[in-house]
Amino acid sequence: MPDPTPAQDPKAYTYIVEHLDPELGPWSGLEYACIAKETQARASTQSKGDSTFCLSSLPPSLEVPEALLARSPAFRAETRGVEDMYPRPEDKRTVCLLDPQAERDLCPEDAEVFGAFLFGGILGDDPPRDRTSELRKKGFEGRRLGPVQMTTDTAVRVTRMVIEERYALNTIPYVDFPELKFNEHESTQMPFRYVKGPDGNPIMPDGMVDLIKKDADKTIDDLF
Ligand code: SAM
Repeated sequence: MPDPTPAQDPKAYTYIVEHLDPELGPWSGLEYACIAKETQARASTQSKGDSTFCLSSLPPSLEVPEALLARSPAFRAETRGVEDMYPRPEDKRTVCLLDPQAERDLCPEDAEVFGAFLFGGILGDDPPRDRTSELRKKGFEGRRLGPVQMTTDTAVRVTRMVIEERYALNTIPYVDFPELKFNEHESTQMPFRYVKGPDGNPIMPDGMVDLIKKDADKTIDDLF
């Protein structure tokens, strides 16, 4: 991975994932726990500018998974939606919606423009159903992370790399549509873009490969 230009004066950013489903399923749980873990890990290594991860619009009855609560203080659960969190136009202008249909791509200079980055808390789908439109119609300024659909944790990871580490989007190493091989006979292809880790594999939340395998086994069982 090429060295990015280091940020001169790290400031604190808020990464907001607006949860858009009535429930919080195991896939979302792993993705959110991963975002919380990476936010916490970064906060612990920064001398100043502790960024936070806010999971917004959580139904009040929903139990926040233990794996997430364990990540406080970098993690915050919110029952309010993002519109109620930023009601004044001057505050709303500081929020950037990461939107696969935005006209402009995110760039390192956006670190000076925005203080919060907003993502759709939805699982990826193939073909994409554009549920991000639920947030787009609230009027936040949008930026795209390139033309390929990412998982929510990947989208947050890439945004953090561009904003906090000043990578240009096209210098980040990606793995597109990786095939996960479970054994000699079983594999599945993921229809998403991921960041390539130091071992050459796509970076995924802890436990995700096992969950994908379990879901694939269940689908096969349901066929018989
Ligand atoms: N198919 C989905 C939809 O209906 O919009 C995309 C959901 S994606 C798994 C979850 C979130 O990650 C999106 O709402 C968006 O905030 C962010 N995201 C993923 N890929 C992106 C891209 N290429 N550009 C900008 N944002 C992206």
